[in-house]
Amino acid sequence: MESPLAQDWKSNSYWLDGVRESPNLPVNPASEVDVLVVGSGFTGLNASIQTAKAGRSTMVLDALDPGLGCSTRNGGQISTSVKPSLDKLTTRFGLEKALAIRKEGETALQWISDFVEVEKIACDFKHAGRFHAAHTPKHYDEIAFSADKMRTTEGIESYVVPKSNQRQELGSDAYYGGVVFTKHSSLNPAKYHRGLLDKALSLGVHVTGNCAVQSLKKVSGGFLVSTEKGIVRARDVIVATNGYTTSLTPWLQRRVIPIGSYIIATEPLPEVLMNTLFPKDRIASDTCKVVYYYRASPDRKRILFGGRVSARETNTAISGPKLYQDLCRIFPELSSYKITHSWMGFVAYTFDELAHTGVHDGVHYAMGYCGSGVSMASYLGMRLGQKVLGLKEGQTAFDGLPQPTRPFYSGKPWFLPAAVGWYRWRDRLQCQLAASKG
Ligand SMILES: Cc1cc2nc3c(=O)[nH]c(=O)nc-3n(C[C@H](O)[C@H](O)[C@H](O)COP(=O)(O)OP(=O)(O)OC[C@H]3O[C@@H](n4cnc5c(N)ncnc54)[C@H](O)[C@@H]3O)c2cc1C
Repeated sequence: MESPLAQDWKSNSYWLDGVRESPNLPVNPASEVDVLVVGSGFTGLNASIQTAKAGRSTMVLDALDPGLGCSTRNGGQISTSVKPSLDKLTTRFGLEKALAIRKEGETALQWISDFVEVEKIACDFKHAGRFHAAHTPKHYDEIAFSADKMRTTEGIESYVVPKSNQRQELGSDAYYGGVVFTKHSSLNPAKYHRGLLDKALSLGVHVTGNCAVQSLKKVSGGFLVSTEKGIVRARDVIVATNGYTTSLTPWLQRRVIPIGSYIIATEPLPEVLMNTLFPKDRIASDTCKVVYYYRASPDRKRILFGGRVSARETNTAISGPKLYQDLCRIFPELSSYKITHSWMGFVAYTFDELAHTGVHDGVHYAMGYCGSGVSMASYLGMRLGQKVLGLKEGQTAFDGLPQPTRPFYSGKPWFLPAAVGWYRWRDRLQCQLAASKG
């Protein structure tokens, strides 16, 4: 079979094609700062903006070029980002705390929408709404029921779409109806990241890339931080490394599970076809356990399609064609078009499917967005900055939650291939059984 990869396909994020040249950044770190932030993604930059605004000398260091973790690689879909249901959280924490945690998701979604508007960050932000599609009739019943419950108990706006009306939301017959979450939104993550970087730089934040932080040592009055390019003294340290967390912070490394998420962009498609497939420009996801997420590019010329296509981590020359097969299962009309970009990045899952933030050994952190961090990483990063400043508003419902790990887990998820393999097999079987029943 002919490869769906275009001859000149790229293994970097599609979003990076559309951003301006990087600004000139200092090559070396400063020797002393009030606040040192490790990681230059949405979490780290949003934290740095808060501390710099309050007059604290702030430096962000990244092992890669700034933003080259997940924050310029993602699908740009914005949701409420709290995965566990109210019922599950209530069983664990009681109703009041559960409601507070769920509410943070809504707050994060609203906060990012307000933030990009107030700060005038040009990032193609759009209140697109999400079509969450059911891959079997049983899943349709389940999400319709839970959407109804979320509407009455949490005030989450949504409406149910039966299969007969599905094409009004998404031009596919592969699903059995779904739910539209009207407030979910979309943006161009690389443009958003660039806007954050520009904002941080304008506030005097020192940002240096290609400068891994190698150790953090507590000393009187703060930390002595060893980096690839010299020693830094910092009063406060924020760790914002999410799926790229290493043995720099072993306690955190034991509490996050790095998982590759893979994504492709198609070549430009005819306008008529785009209008058929994405009639309302919704972002989309489905009820598969190993979820697929996709959308039109902001110029409505391409489709960006993401998911996890193999049990083990793989390279993007292999993941691209596999994702394409799934894309064509959902939209058979795309079988004659090519893929121009295929890339991936590491997200951080947690053992309880919740993001976590707090202070450990004097180090502030926020991470574990479970693949859904555009709004939550931004919001918790912002709150983290406020916490370092000692502000009451920095507190969130995530503070003080127990943060589980597992015996013998040190940050290398040996169990992942078996778990992903099993879930993918089950998803496929459920799709086939549903299709065979018509
Ligand atoms: C393919 C893909 C699609 C996604 N799609 C979506 C989506 O549609 N919607 C959504 O909400 N979320 C999505 N996500 C998740 C989202 O991108 C992340 O949750 C979010 O970007 C996390 O931001 P962050 O700042 O915490 O981490 P990152 O942006 O990953 O930044 C962490 C940084 O820490 C740096 N670092 C690590 N260790 C060190 C060290 N020792 N010294 C210096 N620097 C260090 C890394 O180099 C990295 O740049 C997706 C992710 C991927 C990979």
